[in-house]
Amino acid sequence: MTKFKFKKKYGQNFLKNTSIIEKIVNSIEPTHNDLIIEIGPGSGVITSKLKKYNANLIAFEIDVETKKFLLPLEDDRTKIIYSDFLEINLRDFLSTYNYERLYIIGNLPYYITTPILEHIIDCDVNAETITIMVQKEVATRFLAKPQTRDYGMMTVLINYNYDIEKIVNVKNTDFIPIPKVDSTVIKLSKKDKESIDYDLFKKFLKDAFQFKRKTLNNNLNAYDKNKIEAILKRHNFSLKNRAEELDLQTFLDIVKEL
Ligand code: SAM
Repeated sequence: MTKFKFKKKYGQNFLKNTSIIEKIVNSIEPTHNDLIIEIGPGSGVITSKLKKYNANLIAFEIDVETKKFLLPLEDDRTKIIYSDFLEINLRDFLSTYNYERLYIIGNLPYYITTPILEHIIDCDVNAETITIMVQKEVATRFLAKPQTRDYGMMTVLINYNYDIEKIVNVKNTDFIPIPKVDSTVIKLSKKDKESIDYDLFKKFLKDAFQFKRKTLNNNLNAYDKNKIEAILKRHNFSLKNRAEELDLQTFLDIVKEL
């Protein structure tokens, strides 16, 4: 590791705490018929431990200079693709592979965690679980309950798609070099979803949460407010409430009837 020049632009903070690495790797239970996608393997600390599952493992890494760590890990079941994960159409990519279940795992740079999660959700690849490291505040936001400060659009979107659990908190000193912030590893597990118009759901959430401190009455001018008021009433809410007070089911019921 001594000669490696860490690149800030790629958010390169490599994990050095082996107990955290074990917890990330042990958060999944793939068999040899399954496929693991790792995002941002870096020095390969997670990749090398994932090999114990003997599943097919494909890792996407943007920085070719990590090749010196990753090349020795490649074999007929482990493949590294040097590419920007955000540029990959995961759905098309996966269509060429045969597998039973898909697991996604990654310790990503903080600035792309949310875009990457959105990218995975939008690609609708039916992952069994997604285990990722996020900034501690982001985990708090994803795990937030309605009527709390941290509850937002992303909380609702994630909770529609997955069950969320916290795996472990990670101190900044568990990385080399040491980042400014602490982190949390979270695991998102696939759940049964009500079928809805997903694009409409996203747009409605964006509008409802547009001005967080404003009431629904102010944020939803573009919609049929009489109809929405009637649905809100069934859930004991009104247009005087703010989006951050509404639970997932209330949002879903509104979107189903829009
Ligand atoms: N997984 C390693 C670990 O736990 O020590 C490295 C983690 S480091 C926080 C993030 C890694 O993601 C870096 O190796 C970086 O080069 C890579 N990366 C950054 N942006 C990426 C992208 N868009 N697509 C794929 N890999 C990316």
